[in-house]
Amino acid sequence: MTEKSPVVSDVVAALDERYPRDWAEQWDRVGLVLGEFETPVDHILCVVDCVPETADEAVEAGASMIVAHHPLLLKGVSTLAPDTYKGRIVHRLIRAGIALYVAHTNADVANPGVSDALADRLDLRNTRPLVPQEDGRGIGRIGELPAPMPLGELVTFAASRLPATAAGVRAAGDQNRSVGTLAVCGGAGDSFLGDATRAGVDAYLCADLRHHPAGEHLANGGPALIDVAHWASERPWLDEVAGWLRSRFPIAVTVSDVDTDPWTVHAESPEKES
Ligand SMILES: [Zn+2]
Repeated sequence: MTEKSPVVSDVVAALDERYPRDWAEQWDRVGLVLGEFETPVDHILCVVDCVPETADEAVEAGASMIVAHHPLLLKGVSTLAPDTYKGRIVHRLIRAGIALYVAHTNADVANPGVSDALADRLDLRNTRPLVPQEDGRGIGRIGELPAPMPLGELVTFAASRLPATAAGVRAAGDQNRSVGTLAVCGGAGDSFLGDATRAGVDAYLCADLRHHPAGEHLANGGPALIDVAHWASERPWLDEVAGWLRSRFPIAVTVSDVDTDPWTVHAESPEKES
């Protein structure tokens, strides 16, 4: 642990070492987004999304730095004028002297990374990457549940273990299908449906699954699918990175529980209630 309080460049160096920027996908934009390198850091707020609500939370908490999972500025912009959505956030943070750092797909593939935190929430054992890369890194995780359970029960279990959202948890497949081996992937998981099938898992849990890819996957005999809110799938990582930051620096590190899932209203269809 560093004895004296760090400055922004110290935290950036530590995070860059744990989540090297060249582990990120080529399209991704990670690292320091804004903030002066020499600003002292005594409080870091970890968030999934840097949005007005979490920026406000950082200001109110007196944080000096935000560590976010999703990039604030993924695509090129030609203005940060304060009458634009992102410009307002940038101005608010700079005025409050809050630095912003992003670890996105480089934190997804890290070991431990975003999907390890998700797997831990579900008590998965003997985990390994769903899409392996070098040195034990990779996208998603595959692991065994402590005991096999029917898909219907697993959905309730996942809903009880993951951060609560209005959308909750839904699944596709036979609710009596026994699930012993589960693949998980924090965030959008459409692209890895084939990997989950090839891995021979019983079910695959991720976010943002869509009608046609999910339907075709099941029609081809693929593993059952469990669709969770994107925010809920990545929120567990915040605890892990916060714990690690606390072990590195003698400062306050807190985690945002502001639910940034865009789906805020949910109703059961009456005739479908069981
Ligand atoms: Zn995400």
